[in-house]
Amino acid sequence: MIITIDGPAGTGKSTVAKLLAKRLRFIFFDTGAMYRAATLFVLRHHIPLHDERKIEKLFETFSFTIGMNEMGEKTYFLQEEDVTLAIRSFEVTSAVSEISAYACVRKLLVKEQREYARKNHAVFEGRDMGSVVFPKAELKIFLTASPSIRAERRYKELAEKFPNMALSLDPKTIEEDISRRDTLDSIRKISPLICPKKAFVIDTTLMTPDEVVKKILSFGKERIQRSLSQIRAPKRKMNFPYRLVIFIVQNYFRLFYRLDVYGLEHFCENAAILASNHVSYLDPPVVAVSAPEEIHFLARESLFQLPFFGRFIRWMNSHPITGGTAVVKIFRQIGNILAEGKKIIIFPEGTRSESGKMGPMRPGIAFLSYLNQVPIIPVYVQGTKDIWSRNRKWPKLFGKMICVFGSLIDPKDFSSLSKKEAIDAISQRLEKSLVDLEKYCDEGALGLPP
Ligand code: C5P
Repeated sequence: MIITIDGPAGTGKSTVAKLLAKRLRFIFFDTGAMYRAATLFVLRHHIPLHDERKIEKLFETFSFTIGMNEMGEKTYFLQEEDVTLAIRSFEVTSAVSEISAYACVRKLLVKEQREYARKNHAVFEGRDMGSVVFPKAELKIFLTASPSIRAERRYKELAEKFPNMALSLDPKTIEEDISRRDTLDSIRKISPLICPKKAFVIDTTLMTPDEVVKKILSFGKERIQRSLSQIRAPKRKMNFPYRLVIFIVQNYFRLFYRLDVYGLEHFCENAAILASNHVSYLDPPVVAVSAPEEIHFLARESLFQLPFFGRFIRWMNSHPITGGTAVVKIFRQIGNILAEGKKIIIFPEGTRSESGKMGPMRPGIAFLSYLNQVPIIPVYVQGTKDIWSRNRKWPKLFGKMICVFGSLIDPKDFSSLSKKEAIDAISQRLEKSLVDLEKYCDEGALGLPP
């Protein structure tokens, strides 16, 4: 999903985009930094700003990369050099609007921005994000603010970045520079600064960055949820009877229970254990219809003796627990299913929780994951308890359900630990993940799942 934030300098785009991206677990992309790096590149080569031909030639060797420092902040590299601070200098700021008006520069940078967007959910901020680069972005924002507050913000930003220069900075000069850049950015022929079609306009003059983010989330909540719940993992092959049942049940759940699925991007290939909370009979089928591939289950052997139901659950990849309740035998059986590269669902709390909240977890899943060296996909299902709780004979006809797949927990990440430490660590990670997924659902499933 792409969210664009455009607007003139000093309206708070970067701060807001950063906060918003953090809240949604998206990537934040400051396209102004790219144009600034391009400008620094020209200045370093002492090419006159008006010499388009020389600039075009120079850009054949332009290389810009983005890194991350120890504090988790973005760092920008021109060729191999860290230019994070240098691109904010006054010289660069004064020349950037001239350089960013050149078609050769924009063509190159827009290509890179689109390439980046193909692989990531991101908040892009700049001048032409919603109008030219991503006209089909799912959510577009345009920020404005009064000229004096914009100059004040820019002054503060510069004083923070270049404290030695602060005394020589004059707010009037900054205001003039901002206004000159706005004019140049707005009147240029290619990709001028305009309010994109269908963008939400927010005047940030009297707002804090947090308030702006809140407003964007309230405007965009449904679009964000719709867009993220529509992410599809690549569909894998399913048997015909399994596929048919999934198709019917999935549509039933979507229609009557407005089932939304999040986090499908976390689905891995090959064997895995799906570890899900359990509050209702509906949880196993909800997880099965939400997954993009066949899922396997374990069920009591007696259920397979029932005339029609027994055959049905066999079709649906249920495996009878053979050999009674001996843990070693059950673990061996699960190990065999995983060894065939299949995915199996296990409920770490054992039986259905009565309260609907997560209960204490059994250590078996972490042990199985470690022993078989297969990852765990944490799964959280919400809403099923309201629809079919333990004390209801039949499910309600309507309701709302969410199924979220969380980030993978891979036993290989714990290979430096002893067996016992690794199992404890996997177990703790799973417990935390399920709590985080529960919180994510409680907060309205806004953004990518943890
Ligand atoms: O946002 P920031 O002030 O860092 O942007 C610096 C300059 O980069 C802008 O004044 C504008 O000339 C240029 N720019 C652009 N298109 C973008 C982002 C920035 O032309 N998408």
